Amino acid sequence: MTTFVDRVELHVAAGNGGHGCASVHREKFKPLGGPDGGNGGRGGDVTLVVDQDVTTLLEYHHSPHRKATNGKPGEGGNRSGKDGTDLVLPVPDGTVVLDRHGNVLADLVGQGTTFVAGQGGRGGLGNAALASARRKAPGFALLGVPGQERDVVLELKTVADVALVGYPSAGKSSLISVLSAAKPKIADYPFTTLVPNLGVVTAGSTVYTIADVPGLIPGASEGRGLGLEFLRHVERCSVLVHVLDTATLESDRDPVSDLDVIEAELRAYGAGLENRPRVVALNKVDVPDGRDLADMIRPELESRGYQVFEVSAVSHAGLRELSFALAKIVAETRAAQPAQESTRIVIRPQAVDDAGFTVVREDEGLFRVRGEKPERWVRQTDFTNDEAVGYLADRLNRLGVEDALVKAGARAGDGVAIGSDDDAVVFDWEPSMAAGAEMLGRRGEDHRFDAPRPAASRRRDKQAERDEAEQEYRGFDPFE
Ligand code: GDP
Ligand code: MG
Repeated sequence: MTTFVDRVELHVAAGNGGHGCASVHREKFKPLGGPDGGNGGRGGDVTLVVDQDVTTLLEYHHSPHRKATNGKPGEGGNRSGKDGTDLVLPVPDGTVVLDRHGNVLADLVGQGTTFVAGQGGRGGLGNAALASARRKAPGFALLGVPGQERDVVLELKTVADVALVGYPSAGKSSLISVLSAAKPKIADYPFTTLVPNLGVVTAGSTVYTIADVPGLIPGASEGRGLGLEFLRHVERCSVLVHVLDTATLESDRDPVSDLDVIEAELRAYGAGLENRPRVVALNKVDVPDGRDLADMIRPELESRGYQVFEVSAVSHAGLRELSFALAKIVAETRAAQPAQESTRIVIRPQAVDDAGFTVVREDEGLFRVRGEKPERWVRQTDFTNDEAVGYLADRLNRLGVEDALVKAGARAGDGVAIGSDDDAVVFDWEPSMAAGAEMLGRRGEDHRFDAPRPAASRRRDKQAERDEAEQEYRGFDPFE
């Protein structure tokens, strides 16, 4: 039996960024040669990539936890840490990526389409990169940012060109096996919820896939049987084939009313299937009674506008005509769909206002700051190092967080939480944190570097200082 897993939960963890290094160059007779701590490497991403050779999500059912490697820390001597390696996970064509709440994050169609499921963390800057005219010898480095961890759900919507629908035992599976020259490799898995059959048909110069939708029975749209689940797999098909059984007669059934029942289920399912082109295959005409019945009902079906084929999976009668007619419809549909069909990544940017952060008063004396930058900066901060904490305060101040807190009504001693509920860092707010720190001595100035220097060098420093002030004024952060 050919089966595949169509829905799995995947837990991805991107690699952490490596920490930056704080180090001071040392040489004989030159005890303070300047900061030379290298940057940490970037953490690896976890990326999903459509690979047409992969037909199932089985692999991820067996091992749902996937982690990319971490970036290496920076080292002295200006040596940067190595970046982590991206983890590339191949997925079948037609994989839909959802978040935990069922929101579609990406719809992966077409060989090579990619989606970054987990973003690697940035490496921390080393103290060499943090040095500036004003902060000549930073005694700290930035921490690497943890990689993104995320739970996603992968769902497979088979990208079948042709879908066979019909009552159980109409002969759908038999038709697939005789129509298709080759079957894609499909793994066996006993507990799967869905078991569509897939085949690949070659008719003339057109190659197309054909899938069978088992279990479509009366009441399927109300949840009886598994038919509806299967329909999900053929939502994207170009053409539906009604397979009608002409040879097995039950007192309360005949091929035309079978077709009506299936049509009613397709209408109830919706999703555009109700308007899809369809043809009728009257199957089992190798049986004499079947042939008679087929001839009898053919005019009725044609008067309804269906193209009708009399076929037999046993004698192979009519199969060539059917497969070429389907190839024609598939080719026409493909020609009508431009290449843009191939990538449908849904991007949902996080809502952040123009300032890049928001301040909300949550409680008496508790303010919450949210925003990509402030939250990242907090993660980059080594809170055991006062200089690093001061640097964070400078950055927040420069972004305007402090002004926004004042506007929001924060007062000295109020709590300020930066980040979401579960991983916030909470401070006791001191208005003018930066100014306060300033009075204690400007950060990053090591008086040992302040030997008298020629005027030209001092002028250069002044200019550099002005440049830096200018950049800050324009909101430009050189350490982004
Ligand atoms: P499905 O439930 O629609 O997939 O139907 P199957 O392909 O499993 O076929 C159901 C039964 O009908 C099987 O016993 C098949 O051997 C039989 N069958 C399928 N096609 C034909 C046909 O063209 N002629 C005859 N005589 N029997 C057929
Ligand atoms: Mg079957």
